[in-house]
Amino acid sequence: MFVDSHCHLSFPGLAEQLPVIRADMRAADVGAALCICTTLEEFDEVHALACSDNNFWASAGVHPDNEGVLEPSVKDLLRLAEHAKVVAIGETGLDYYRLNGRTVAEMEWQRERFRVHIQAAQHTGLPLVIHTRTASKDTLDVLTAEGDGRVGGVFHCFTETLEVARAALDLGFYISFSGILTFKNAHDLREVASFVPLDRCLIETDSPYLAPAPFRGKTNTPALLPWVAKQVAELKGIAVEDIARITTLNFERLFGVSITASTTQ
Ligand SMILES: [Zn+2]
Ligand SMILES: [Zn+2]
Repeated sequence: MFVDSHCHLSFPGLAEQLPVIRADMRAADVGAALCICTTLEEFDEVHALACSDNNFWASAGVHPDNEGVLEPSVKDLLRLAEHAKVVAIGETGLDYYRLNGRTVAEMEWQRERFRVHIQAAQHTGLPLVIHTRTASKDTLDVLTAEGDGRVGGVFHCFTETLEVARAALDLGFYISFSGILTFKNAHDLREVASFVPLDRCLIETDSPYLAPAPFRGKTNTPALLPWVAKQVAELKGIAVEDIARITTLNFERLFGVSITASTTQ
């Protein structure tokens, strides 16, 4: 059985067709998923998804890209984290890809938001789901300064260098690979995936984005996760069933959950 460690089932394109997505997941043996929260406004919907299936869980957090949304306080995140089935804080982190004419110095609001999430993770003991894009140095710096080595979690949809992977692993983080790993031009990323120890690997779809090859450009769903697993299996030189088993165990260990045999209640 495969576990999708990062998907956005509440997003348009997926939310309207959950019954079909669930049937496709069952057919593809994708038996569990972490539903990721990206705004406080969205939390109730993400949480309802988590409560609708034994093997769905939720995170609580505000994505670094989201502007013009409610700004979370540590207290807000702690309150959301008290809900059943909330097993992670995030997704959070730094994203300097779309600066929209601003300098990195002017993105202090993002770093401050990130610190708030790190503090919430420290208070709750929940792992962080980290999003980092064009900002790996600052992401690691803020984590080290604020986290003091006491928070763990996962760097999701990893696209950074081997050096960044090593630094994240040294801080105790897991690394999650998405469909990007299957893209033709992702040679460097495949090298990173070959390097990351299997007991620290997770797999994800980041649905509805980043459908793996041969579905690149189409709407992604958790049912396409085995294509990511196949790519990891190829790089590691082991069977895809072993990738499924190991990444499932890793997911259970990191998020402190146990996946049950049936997918629906
Ligand atoms: Zn992300
Ligand atoms: Zn995401």
